[in-house]
Amino acid sequence: MDYGFDTGLLAAQKLDLDDPLAGFRDDFIFPEPLSRDTTLYFCGNSLGLQPKSTAAAIQQELDAWARYGVEGHFKAEFPWVNYHEFLTKMMAEVVGGKDDEVVCMNSLTVNLHLMMVSFYQPTAARYKILIEGGAFPSDQYAVASQARFHGFDPESAIIELKPRSGEHCLRTEDILETIHSNKDSLALVMLGGVNYLTGQLFDMQSVTQAAHEIGARVGFDLAHAAGNVTLNLHDWGVDFAVWCSYKYLNSGPGGIAGCFVHRNMPKDKIPRFEGWWGHDKESRFQMGKEFVPINSVESWQLSNPPIFQLASLRSSLELFRAAGMSKLREKSKKLTAYLQFLVGKSFDEGLILTPKDVESRGAQLSFRIPGQAKKLQKSLVQRDVICDFREPDIVRAAPAPLYNSFEDVYHFVSQLQEVIHES
Ligand SMILES: *Cc1c(COP(=O)(O)O)cnc(C)c1O
Repeated sequence: MDYGFDTGLLAAQKLDLDDPLAGFRDDFIFPEPLSRDTTLYFCGNSLGLQPKSTAAAIQQELDAWARYGVEGHFKAEFPWVNYHEFLTKMMAEVVGGKDDEVVCMNSLTVNLHLMMVSFYQPTAARYKILIEGGAFPSDQYAVASQARFHGFDPESAIIELKPRSGEHCLRTEDILETIHSNKDSLALVMLGGVNYLTGQLFDMQSVTQAAHEIGARVGFDLAHAAGNVTLNLHDWGVDFAVWCSYKYLNSGPGGIAGCFVHRNMPKDKIPRFEGWWGHDKESRFQMGKEFVPINSVESWQLSNPPIFQLASLRSSLELFRAAGMSKLREKSKKLTAYLQFLVGKSFDEGLILTPKDVESRGAQLSFRIPGQAKKLQKSLVQRDVICDFREPDIVRAAPAPLYNSFEDVYHFVSQLQEVIHES
């Protein structure tokens, strides 16, 4: 898509004037700048900003606790006993799931383990797990420890996808080819939806189809995809997915995570670690000996959930509902296209290792700056330009469409240009 961008500050300001989502910026609190008028915040891929409505949402539950004590479970305006249900619909819209397929619970890595307990059932012949090479460490530890738990050596049980030599990103054809060439031994395909380092968005639909063709299960870690790109987990037929909510979804540090299990999974036949919050709601408080699962993904819930975290996430999801994922995605594509355009004009598009096609990436662009990345990132932070550094030589910057402006992107590139010239 050709957006017909122009250089210059006025062009950036014009893009903001034409942006139907521009107003949402005022719903967020930006960190206090030290040296400029405003902080340029490009770390929504790591920790999203705080919505202005979050404090009141948490305060409301503190007040309910003060006022009702234990009775708050039933008497609070949002009764705690089913508080998580107030988030389900909004969260389901973000990931393209049905209401009985999505639940907010635990944290990401915990959910990943719970899902693998259920969906990684290796046999002597079919025991391998396919992941991205250099996957996020927690994912690597989770799959390796699951393989070991079942008596397999991760060295042989885990297949890592690697880019072709001289390339940074994976080609879909190579992912599909690897799935097919391991058709008799692959038990589980477990990829990120968007790679945390390169920002590459994977073709989850094709991967799901290929995995199912060979009889493997397929799950996605959507840490960098939820609230960032268009997801249709139900229609794609994905078996399970997990994600955190403190990145693009702005729920705050350590916020409660999300989990998806497809409606078509035979829930009564799948082994699962169980707790009382997964028990049928009608009879839960009869405190019986027998576990009667809720007939939805909620049957994977273990404990009664942290209400303050749910309140925080609820306040942010309200903003996602108001903005709409499809409009956010449209703006996001335009924002990264504009960032790429300015980088190309100002120095060199070749610095960007994220796919150049907007359809193959989310909000994040990763810049490879050999030998200098760490130093440049430090200088940027000193100038109130918040982006992050990842080993060995990568600076990641993610304009979040809910609160970043085109003018932010304009100033980001000017600042990047200045620190590169200084060094
Ligand atoms: C952010 C992130 C995590 C973090 O896991 P937590 O359990 O939330 O600490 C895990 N995996 C990926 C791919 C991530 O991007």
